[in-house]
Amino acid sequence: MRRYGRFFSLKQMLRKVPVPVLIIGIIVVILCPIALLHFSSNNQGGNTLLNDIPVLRKNEKERKNYHENKSWLRNPFLQQPAGGGFRSPELLDGVPVEWSQQELSRPVVCPSVARLASKPSFDLANLTFTLTDLSSDGDLGIWDEEMDAAYHKTPKIKSTSDTGKKPLLVYVVPFSHADPGWLSTVEEYFSTSTKLALDNMLKRLLEWPDMTFIWAETSYFKMWWETLDAGKRKAVLDLTKSGRLEIVNGGYVMPDEASCSAYAILHQYIYGHQWLLDNLGVTPEHGFSIDPFGHSSSMPYFLRNLDFKTIFIQRIHYNIRRHLGKHKATEFLWEQRWDSTASTSIFTHLAPHHLYTIKNICGLTKNNCYFYDFKDIMFEIEKSQMETQAQILLEEMRKTVSLYPHNVLLYILGDDFRWAEDTEWTNQYKNYKLLMKLINSNPANDVIMQFGTLKNYYDAVFERSGTPDAPTPSLPSVQGDFFPYADKYEDYWTGYFTSRPFYKQMSRELERDLRTAEILLVLAKLESFGNDGADFQEDLIGLERAAESLGLFQHHDAITGTSKQMVALDYGDKLQNGLLMAHAVILKNVQRQADAERVDIILESYRPTPGSLPAKSPLFFKPGNMERIVFLFNPLARSRTTVIHLLSETQNLRITDADGREIAYQVSPALNDVDTQGSYLDVLRITFFLQLDPLALKAISIKSLGERTKKIKIKTRSTTTIRSTDRAGDKVKIQGFSVKELDPAELVTLTNAYMAATFRPEDGMLQALRTRKGKRKVAMELKRYESMNSGAYLFRPTGLGDLKPYPYTVRVLQGPLFSEIQTHTGGVVLIVRIYNSATDLDKSLEVELITQMEKLGENNELVLRLTTDIRNNLTFHTDSNGFQIIQRRVSHVLPMAANYYPATSMGFMEDDRSRLTLHLTQAHGVGSQRNGEIEVMIDRFLMQDDGRGVGEALRDPRVVKTHLQLQLETEGFCLDCPLKNPTDTAHRVNLAANNPPHITFEQEMSNLTTFNYEPVQSNLPCDVHLLMMKPVTYNPGDKRVGFLFHRPGLDCSTPRTSDLDVCLPGTEDILLGGLLKKAHTFKSYNETTFNFVNSRKRFGIKTPIRLLPMHIGAYTVNLP
Ligand SMILES: [Zn+2]
Repeated sequence: MRRYGRFFSLKQMLRKVPVPVLIIGIIVVILCPIALLHFSSNNQGGNTLLNDIPVLRKNEKERKNYHENKSWLRNPFLQQPAGGGFRSPELLDGVPVEWSQQELSRPVVCPSVARLASKPSFDLANLTFTLTDLSSDGDLGIWDEEMDAAYHKTPKIKSTSDTGKKPLLVYVVPFSHADPGWLSTVEEYFSTSTKLALDNMLKRLLEWPDMTFIWAETSYFKMWWETLDAGKRKAVLDLTKSGRLEIVNGGYVMPDEASCSAYAILHQYIYGHQWLLDNLGVTPEHGFSIDPFGHSSSMPYFLRNLDFKTIFIQRIHYNIRRHLGKHKATEFLWEQRWDSTASTSIFTHLAPHHLYTIKNICGLTKNNCYFYDFKDIMFEIEKSQMETQAQILLEEMRKTVSLYPHNVLLYILGDDFRWAEDTEWTNQYKNYKLLMKLINSNPANDVIMQFGTLKNYYDAVFERSGTPDAPTPSLPSVQGDFFPYADKYEDYWTGYFTSRPFYKQMSRELERDLRTAEILLVLAKLESFGNDGADFQEDLIGLERAAESLGLFQHHDAITGTSKQMVALDYGDKLQNGLLMAHAVILKNVQRQADAERVDIILESYRPTPGSLPAKSPLFFKPGNMERIVFLFNPLARSRTTVIHLLSETQNLRITDADGREIAYQVSPALNDVDTQGSYLDVLRITFFLQLDPLALKAISIKSLGERTKKIKIKTRSTTTIRSTDRAGDKVKIQGFSVKELDPAELVTLTNAYMAATFRPEDGMLQALRTRKGKRKVAMELKRYESMNSGAYLFRPTGLGDLKPYPYTVRVLQGPLFSEIQTHTGGVVLIVRIYNSATDLDKSLEVELITQMEKLGENNELVLRLTTDIRNNLTFHTDSNGFQIIQRRVSHVLPMAANYYPATSMGFMEDDRSRLTLHLTQAHGVGSQRNGEIEVMIDRFLMQDDGRGVGEALRDPRVVKTHLQLQLETEGFCLDCPLKNPTDTAHRVNLAANNPPHITFEQEMSNLTTFNYEPVQSNLPCDVHLLMMKPVTYNPGDKRVGFLFHRPGLDCSTPRTSDLDVCLPGTEDILLGGLLKKAHTFKSYNETTFNFVNSRKRFGIKTPIRLLPMHIGAYTVNLP
């Protein structure tokens, strides 16, 4: 296979570069910073701007040599020097001597920086930081004396130049907010409320031809649909066709916008929208995000690319709502900061009310609205009384519409789990009809008030003030996101970014496994393993169940950790079920690829119960059963070298790949990493590195050479030396290893060819990181916020303390392939690991933290803090749904809780010398309180409810395992760029951490042999990630495969590094037809919306895909 195809295409590109362009290129290098800022994202001809040509040409030759020689195999630490044994790096002043001999980097420039959008009307980052008066109760709404005075100065009947003399048009839009699990489970809510609401909806909409209803959650709609007979289904179809029943949003759930990844958000939209298309023949056009606790700036990008015309948002900081309201900016164009073309902007409606609940939605005056909820009235309201009520309501509606530049009002009518009882339908409908009659019948009012849907409202707005694509020029623009959210005083909803980390991790695990299962199934279909199609039916059912359990958990009371404990347990069972389903598909397809359908293949790692951490299955050998074939699948569509840690009962092994090469391995004691005791298992840890091709399945052999004794000579085996601070009285015994005492006065330094990490011996905490460019203080600490007021939603710390109890036990394990420091104290085990592989693995420290909050005491919020000498000017960066990076500023005026932001994949800070990145493998809150500090919240154990609805303390007794990567970069990142992005190295480190290889092996020895299955013809461009490759639907007859490619914005300042692994972001096209070896069967592909519903354009399979940096692209192909 053409493993390093991108270099050939670079060469081809260079040949095509005309001489004038070369000259321009050189100028571009000189004017690099200016050029970076001004390069238009419209310019797709990125190839012509390849610059620094001589360097590139030289690089290309060196790279070719480098890769052809496979220097990853020539790593001195992997190779067996003459005479046997491994050598450790020779140290001089704590750093490897090779560093001084290495060539320093030189910059190479790539042309991928998108051009900044022009300054918006409102920059949310500034508003979040500058609106610091936290003295009001947000629940009182935004209407104040100043607004009231302004309102009374203007004519009662609005007649602006935009709207002309048109009547006030009011659409009353009945809705029910239905959480798929919160205080009760999804099934309980369905039987007690949601099914009744939808049953009554059908009955009453058929009865009352002017009544309307909207519905958002496809999960519930699907459950209800399955209870309907053919006649009722037909009636529902007629209602959607007539427009009186509108499906809005239409994801499987209404996803949380802080903790979900782009993959999980889009996956549940794909599933929800494809289901709606299949069953109702409709695709939603309007977003309806009324309950998520703050709003992400990636959502407008996603929804615009789902072909939504509008977004509806609700919960934002009360100060920002008031500010936007006062400036008549409750409808705006929500833009991406990085897009100067506005092609990704979307019309956004911000609800003017504090909340969507019944006490808020009729208008802006507190407590008036209870009079307009007729759900439980026991007697008929007299007409005379209603007349007064109608006049008050009309005044409220006029006040509300004064916040908008037009004369159309959206009046949503509902609350949580409403419209379930038949009497509610009758009472609400009849009384609102009476109100409408009273208001509409008086010509002096000049009002048309009627039932409607979101579509009715937006159509009227666009008719009066411009189309969604070309709205009135007066429409303000907004950039940034609505985090953090506060609803009153200093009550910041920043705790839920971390609440219930056990399940946040489980969700990410299901994402990984579902993604792998879907890729493996598509590959199996391509290999024509099931020519008749019937073979795959079971797989498709499994994938659909897994998709449902992942989708359900993205709900804004599930992944947020804000449901009741018993509902969280139910989500856990459902996630576990999803994992089992995905695993079944993975195992089945590994069997297919290995032609081993009768061989029992098991997972190397699995969760025995929904409440336990993943446990590893050891390799047990016995006579007649001395060899196992181990299967390793690379879920990334790029080549990589990965590390494999297996458990084995013996250290005497021969590990060989399909080419017969022996693989060197390191033997070390296996820490029991599912509790916080710091004890060791009765088996050994076997660690080795393996190169894996894109999406490849590699079958290697692990053979036991006999008894567990060191006397057997094995050239490829190395062992681990151990030093420990265990007190002499209870000197630690680790079976098979001699343990030396760790000198408490001597700093511990762990090194590889890239960096040196120094640790304090008394508690094993990192102190400094050193690369060849110098040393930085990076002090790792475990701290705990103390609080008597924090809860599942809110973070309300009163102070910060050290972790107790002491003392720590520290052990240092050192070997040629990796070294690590293990430290444990009651309730916490911390492991920091460094690899010696001469690949990307060496460029970050692996950090594992095993914690049990119950053991740390009550009302604690545990954080891992890094205190550094990086002068970051009180700014740091967090990712948004793994899609883009957002700059954050630390405020010393706002409370500590306001300095916390959601992150799902990374957080970093930098100065002119270094950038320190924390790579995450699940959602966390990431914050900073002082200059030079960045911290990640690990877990929370809280004894009280915080008054936001769940009505319970947050006490999860589970052991939690957190995996982070800590990367210090001293070059390759842009100092002056207004948009900060990860470097290509950081991008690879992050993808590798989030996409470990899937490992399975034979349960018993069989006649299987080693092999390499390499389905990919050429690597994707270095900056493109295969976000999804999946069946578009799970219908056996559907032959469409959907692809989502993500080309994140990567930092263009990537230098030429000594290992020559240079990536020039944004320079290469994607060749869908050249990606997979079996792709010659595809004739064409469609570019589609992100839900694969609407085809934008059809292309021949050989047409390259030009995906711009910062973008996701969606494509479908048809299998033969
Ligand atoms: Zn909700």
